[in-house]
Amino acid sequence: LDLTAFEQVLGPEHVVRQEDTLREHSTATFATTSRVPAILRPADTAQVQECLRLAQRLSIRVHPISRGHNWGYGSSVPFADQTLLLDLSRMNRILDYDAELGYVVIEPGVTQQQLYDFLQSQGGRFWMDATGSSPQCSVLGNTLERGFGHTPLSDHFSNSCCYEAVLANGERIETGLSGATQSSAKHVYRYGVGPFLDGLFSQSAFGVVTRMTVWLMPAPEDFCAFFFRCQDHEQLPPLIAALRDLRMSGVTQSSVHVVNDYRVLSGIGQYPWTETGGSTPLTPDVMRKLRLRDGFGAWNGSGALYGAKSLVNRSRILVQQALGPTVSSLDFASDRRVALAKRFSKWLSPIVGMNLERTLKLIEPSIALLKGQPSYHAMRSVYWRKRDVDSASIAVEDIDPDRDHCGLLWSAPVCPAKGAEALRLAELVSNTLIAGGFEPLISFTLASPRVLIGVISIIFDRNVPGEDKRALSVNQQLQANLNAAGFPPYRLGVQSMYNHEYHYQSPILEGLEMVFDPKRCLSPGHYSTSGQSKAN
Ligand SMILES: Cc1cc2nc3c(=O)[nH]c(=O)nc-3n(C[C@H](O)[C@H](O)[C@H](O)COP(=O)(O)OP(=O)(O)OC[C@H]3O[C@@H](n4cnc5c(N)ncnc54)[C@H](O)[C@@H]3O)c2cc1C
Repeated sequence: LDLTAFEQVLGPEHVVRQEDTLREHSTATFATTSRVPAILRPADTAQVQECLRLAQRLSIRVHPISRGHNWGYGSSVPFADQTLLLDLSRMNRILDYDAELGYVVIEPGVTQQQLYDFLQSQGGRFWMDATGSSPQCSVLGNTLERGFGHTPLSDHFSNSCCYEAVLANGERIETGLSGATQSSAKHVYRYGVGPFLDGLFSQSAFGVVTRMTVWLMPAPEDFCAFFFRCQDHEQLPPLIAALRDLRMSGVTQSSVHVVNDYRVLSGIGQYPWTETGGSTPLTPDVMRKLRLRDGFGAWNGSGALYGAKSLVNRSRILVQQALGPTVSSLDFASDRRVALAKRFSKWLSPIVGMNLERTLKLIEPSIALLKGQPSYHAMRSVYWRKRDVDSASIAVEDIDPDRDHCGLLWSAPVCPAKGAEALRLAELVSNTLIAGGFEPLISFTLASPRVLIGVISIIFDRNVPGEDKRALSVNQQLQANLNAAGFPPYRLGVQSMYNHEYHYQSPILEGLEMVFDPKRCLSPGHYSTSGQSKAN
């Protein structure tokens, strides 16, 4: 492949062809077949434009990544083989910050940690939202995938606007009110005039987004996290109904996360090889014993209240009234309470009858996320089934699921926020995964007042012979079962892009593909009806 023209645009050092780097970028947390022949590393929008013009002229495929940490969905591996990666991590500037209206304008390479540190350096007047993934993930990349976090800003796509994007032919466009270049309202009004274009650039292959505005929330006067637990699986329906009603009536404003026992266990340590005598999967019977031993529930959850002191106090009472009768335990953790517990944990533990140090260790990472602080905490869970690696001994900055052959496959079904539907989904997942030999690791996020997003992980060890194939096949079965049961995914990984069942609007999408990228050079097969063209 002659890449001289790209070298002239970017400088030879930014056209990467070292075998080991290419291998790294062709490795995901499950088996993939696409190989990356080179990586292009542009420094600015003009270079992105040049790269895409060249790609068109030379009929070369290109796939953009912002940080490439899309673990569980394909990491940085493109859908189609022999596709160049357009790695935007060098474009990592925070271009603007409005301390009155609360927004930042960022480039693709800006990481969660970088934005967090920046906001702190500005006095911490505004909070961002963070996902549970690594602090080194891209804010913009996650937004384009319509990912979510934990605060009132958890729906990232809904809290972004004013995109700068480069189309496949190299043309630069701006969305929203950007045509009116003098209007700073473009950063606070999403829609512009006429059709709303932002959506065309999320979960698509219609352009490379090189800049976006991200909205922030004012640091609240008061904050109080709450944690709850249900002993029995059957408590899920009334729990979901109570959480939905709290959100619909405005008592809570952020996403609330509910996770099952398996998910909790994978978050606090590795697979219990001793307790299971080395056999897999972890059966529901053993799981029940472990959760009673370790003091967590069949369902466990967290959320938070934000705002003026009087509002938070009042909301606390309403949450207590709504959740109290449906859950087995409910605790509130204000900053003051956590600070006190930390200071006096040794003395208080015997009085309250619990190991406060351990409890604090468990809840502090959740509290951080509820305040929009990125954390490495959840990253260790991908080592759940690893026998040869002690995840606790890895330095957090050194965690690398791709390198360490951690197996991870996500499925992310969308479910109406109705208790019976959530229970139906959970039972379907449990039956499918236990039968397939994997633990049903389930979380539900009340992403909006009316919808739950389930996040199901299959975690495995890629070093175990045959496991890659088995995990992919069980994942395919799971996704087919979920789809047949009416729970389609909110997001796809490279392992599922081929699945035509998900492209409900195929004729329209096909037409748009012809308009945006008739030569199919930009991420062919990525969320597209031409997914079947992988072999081409
Ligand atoms: C333990 C763990 C916890 C996780 N928790 C969460 C969570 O809470 N919420 C969540 O949403 N995800 C979560 N993830 C999944 C994933 O790691 C994140 O979504 C992560 O943000 C994606 O990687 P990235 O930010 O580096 O984006 P990238 O990998 O750079 O981008 C993701 C995709 O978006 C597209 N894209 C990226 N940049 C551009 C661009 N500039 N123009 C056009 N298209 C582009 C590409 O298709 C790319 O493949 C988790 C993963 C793990 C392992």
